[in-house]
Amino acid sequence: MALEVGILGATGAVGQRFVQLIERTPRFEIGAVTASPASEGKRYDEAAKWRLDTEIPDDVGALTVRETAPEALPDDLDLLFSSLPSSVAAEVEPALCEAGYVVSSNSSNDRLAADVPLTIPEINPDHLGLIEVQRDERGWDGALVKNPNCSTITMVPTLAALDQFGIESVQVSTLQAVSGAGYSGVSSMEIIDNAVPHIGGEEAKMETESRKLLGSFDGGAVDRLDADVTASCNRIPTVDGHLENVFASLADDPSADEIRAAMRDVEGSDLPSSPEQLVHVFGEDHPDRPQPRMDRDRGDGMMVSAGGVTATDAGVKYNCLAHNTIRGAAGASLLNGELLAAEGWI
Ligand code: NAP
Repeated sequence: MALEVGILGATGAVGQRFVQLIERTPRFEIGAVTASPASEGKRYDEAAKWRLDTEIPDDVGALTVRETAPEALPDDLDLLFSSLPSSVAAEVEPALCEAGYVVSSNSSNDRLAADVPLTIPEINPDHLGLIEVQRDERGWDGALVKNPNCSTITMVPTLAALDQFGIESVQVSTLQAVSGAGYSGVSSMEIIDNAVPHIGGEEAKMETESRKLLGSFDGGAVDRLDADVTASCNRIPTVDGHLENVFASLADDPSADEIRAAMRDVEGSDLPSSPEQLVHVFGEDHPDRPQPRMDRDRGDGMMVSAGGVTATDAGVKYNCLAHNTIRGAAGASLLNGELLAAEGWI
């Protein structure tokens, strides 16, 4: 039987992806949608400025947009997916968890809190065990689980492959699409025919979240990866997809072939929305890649692509690319929801 879910911030860039992705998985069905006070009381298909290339599902389009508050939601929802602005989420998500809801959230608030799991199911599913710590400390019946920022999630699966060679330091420079800022995030005057060499707060997110994701969990706390990560983040005029240039210094001295093999070994998971292979690696015969790689059978848009792998005396350099509102946002929360269900948390 499908689990009944709600989407918080359902009318936005990530919220619409939630609607699209949840519609194609039999695991969940959408029972409630929320948005800002300006959208409350409207039908979803009136409130959402729908921009995706699939239609709004009829049953979701007919839902009335609710207030984003515990008392406005049905009691029997199994799970909430959250794509609220982080300032709103910081207030509302804890109140929802206290009221007993389990929340799988995209928003950046609390990602680094010591008792909040920050999870990519194919990389660190064991970190979900922090829910026990969280419930003990906060007295919640519900739970709060986060996925990382879209630029972090693009890079971390490739770093997970490098971990076996001893990561000493990482430098990354990004070229990020405008959808990463939400529908009204970057003004057209700012981005048309331009590149913006600054994304507020993004660099710190990449530098800290990546170390938590790659850290080890001992049953009580996460010990973050002991490596320096330095990020430089840039906005470019593409609609979707974050391309990243990574330079990593390693304790060992692997060849490019060994690095590519390690990246190819990063598997997907058994979760329904996970691809069979998480990282698609282009070989040296494709120096102009990566390009977005879709797995049409499973996890469409959930893969990370990597290419240009080069071993140098200073370490390794390569490019990676992922879809920011699918693998980097709604798809990431959806996978965390599938993991919560598979492990019996909901
Ligand atoms: P967005 O397009 O601006 O959408 C924001 C959503 O939140 C809309 O549904 C909006 O409703 C709702 N909202 C705004 N103010 C609210 C309030 N006071 N109370 C309740 N709902 C409110 O933003 P987005 O790109 O989808 O991002 C959503 C979250 O995901 C952000 O925290 C963002 O940092 C994070 N994130 C985004 C990406 C990405 O690639 N875009 C990736 C990772 C994480 P209305 O339509 O009624 O205004």
